[in-house]
Amino acid sequence: MSETLSSAAMLTCLGVLGLLVGSFLNVCIHRLPRDLSIAFPASHCPSCHTPLRWSHNVPVVSWLVLGGRCAFCSAPIHWRYPVVELANAALWVLHAWWLPWDALFIVRIAFASALLVLFFTDLDCRILPNEITLGGTVAGLLAAVFLPPGIVNALLGVLLGGGVLWATGAAYERLRGVEGMGMGDVKMLAMIGAVLGWQLMLLTLVWSSLAGGLLGAVLLARRADARTTALPFGSFLAPAALAASLVGQPVLDWYLGFYR
Ligand SMILES: [Zn+2]
Repeated sequence: MSETLSSAAMLTCLGVLGLLVGSFLNVCIHRLPRDLSIAFPASHCPSCHTPLRWSHNVPVVSWLVLGGRCAFCSAPIHWRYPVVELANAALWVLHAWWLPWDALFIVRIAFASALLVLFFTDLDCRILPNEITLGGTVAGLLAAVFLPPGIVNALLGVLLGGGVLWATGAAYERLRGVEGMGMGDVKMLAMIGAVLGWQLMLLTLVWSSLAGGLLGAVLLARRADARTTALPFGSFLAPAALAASLVGQPVLDWYLGFYR
């Protein structure tokens, strides 16, 4: 009983911490694609530039209390703000429930938060900031020196992930004469390879391509100009990498079991 209680208390603390970090992720999502500093100035309304009071900065609660509007100028505040905060908290709690609480757990929740940022910057601005993709690749490689998937596997993940996507993009560009794959996607898959290793990176690529292909087919069927509408591939890579991080290994073991 007391053990259940203490783990419930831990999950609650982690959830609250997840909300607070989610609030910072919102700053990253807004500022990184615009090349603004994430440290200065302090949080302010993007519309009237009035600095926020602490009471306007409480995750989710402030947005609800203020009715989704700025307290000073009443400009609407994007729904993305509470959603990112809640999503980050939910992802952290999900990881805590699913994974053992060890050093790898810290790596994986940081990875999940990075993927959350990339999902929204690609969706909103079609930009995957280097601070996250390249920074994540370096951090992933450093962690892999001590933790799974191991440094060799992680290095293979970076080379293969970056290489495969770069070659696909170059081939597409030669065939169609337009850029089909941005360098941001290449660097993002390299980061995924650094954190998950080359096998789970390939699984991520397969899952995201299937999801992207499916949505492309739906758009084409609805006569939207899907052939020239570039889908934000990073927004497909992000949930696929998250799924691979959580359930990829059992899926891979099950699949490879057929060949043993
Ligand atoms: Zn305002």
